[in-house]
Amino acid sequence: MSLQQQIIDQTNSRSAHNYNPLPIVLTKGRGIWVWDTEGNKYLDCLSAYSAVNQGHCHPKIIAAMMEQAEKITLTSRAFHNDQMGKFLDKLCHMARMDMALPMNTGAEAVETAIKAARKWGYEIKGVKDNKAEIIVVKNNFHGRTITAISMSSEAEYRNNFGPFTDGFKLIDYNDTTALEKAITSNTVALIMEPIQGEAGIIVPDHDYLTRTKKICTENNILFILDEIQTGLGRTGKLFCFQHEKNASPDILIVGKALSGGVYPVSAILASKEIMDVFTPGIHGSTFGGNPLGAAIGLAALNVILDENLAERSHILGDYLLRKLELIQSNKIIEIRGKGLFIGIELDKSLGGARAYCEALMKKGLLCKETHDHVIRLAPPLIIDKQDIDWMVDQIADVLKD
Ligand SMILES: *Cc1c(COP(=O)(O)O)cnc(C)c1O
Repeated sequence: MSLQQQIIDQTNSRSAHNYNPLPIVLTKGRGIWVWDTEGNKYLDCLSAYSAVNQGHCHPKIIAAMMEQAEKITLTSRAFHNDQMGKFLDKLCHMARMDMALPMNTGAEAVETAIKAARKWGYEIKGVKDNKAEIIVVKNNFHGRTITAISMSSEAEYRNNFGPFTDGFKLIDYNDTTALEKAITSNTVALIMEPIQGEAGIIVPDHDYLTRTKKICTENNILFILDEIQTGLGRTGKLFCFQHEKNASPDILIVGKALSGGVYPVSAILASKEIMDVFTPGIHGSTFGGNPLGAAIGLAALNVILDENLAERSHILGDYLLRKLELIQSNKIIEIRGKGLFIGIELDKSLGGARAYCEALMKKGLLCKETHDHVIRLAPPLIIDKQDIDWMVDQIADVLKD
């Protein structure tokens, strides 16, 4: 039996089967490339769901991690540390927000945003005890905690996990009339993704965010954007909401690429007025804001700025989209996306995108199907034109008539 198969068998016997990975065992990553245990090389078109926007093992991020690891890694928030302040200062500057609250995983940051919105609702807006409502949109993905799946419309994510967290109202995505109808005097917030990633790279109408923000402002409800996947350059802007005018959120949620895939680092950002609902003792995390994660986060943000990754994503994403559109294939229903965040939706009669992802894997391209019929293309943003050309050739080979 091959070493690779032994590793897969061991993993399958000891690890819960909550994922269905492609049959490949990775052991090394550099930039846009990863290698399996047999020495085969692949172009990573998933980037760990956009956590590795800066490329695998970026030397500057790894150097920052090594340097900090030898000094101090965890202080808890019972004491100050000398890394968190400068990390959050950089992040606030980039997002043009007053303050940030650091957590670790994306789902924790989502939970933090929900807590902030509810507390703001009771203490600032004046909603009566336990009446706060938060509007969520169909086919969202905000993580896997009980509260995150309580917001979900996806049966697969929810089945037999109830009872769920109360206080959410589900409306259609890309529908501002539904939003207006759903708002009551108890509504404290709307939370959504500016492009729905897990749902299959669903891009809303070009002025949807602007109109949504306006409705939220007029009704005194917080506009919360989950940019855990779309943020930090992925869609061709530093943050996806910047594609539209006057669409900045009241609470911005970031994670994933915030650490360049090196460590779990997430945060919410907001105005001082909103963030001041947090007072000592009411919320926290042992690892949130730890000096190792903060040093890594600062380095990861600097790489995004120094290497113009948002601009790169914009230019190369347009280039990739145009090249994909030239593929002659009746298997393709639609190609859509912004920046290097592109979905190829396949005809449902083909029985799902999984088989095509496996075929691409054999050609040296790692992709993952999302919502059954969509191939998601989200390579590290440091990719160049030549590698995109090669990528498109492989995709064309697999999808052509
Ligand atoms: C990945 C993701 C999350 C959850 O992040 P975790 O780090 O896996 O908890 C939440 N929202 C969006 C939009 C995501 O893409």
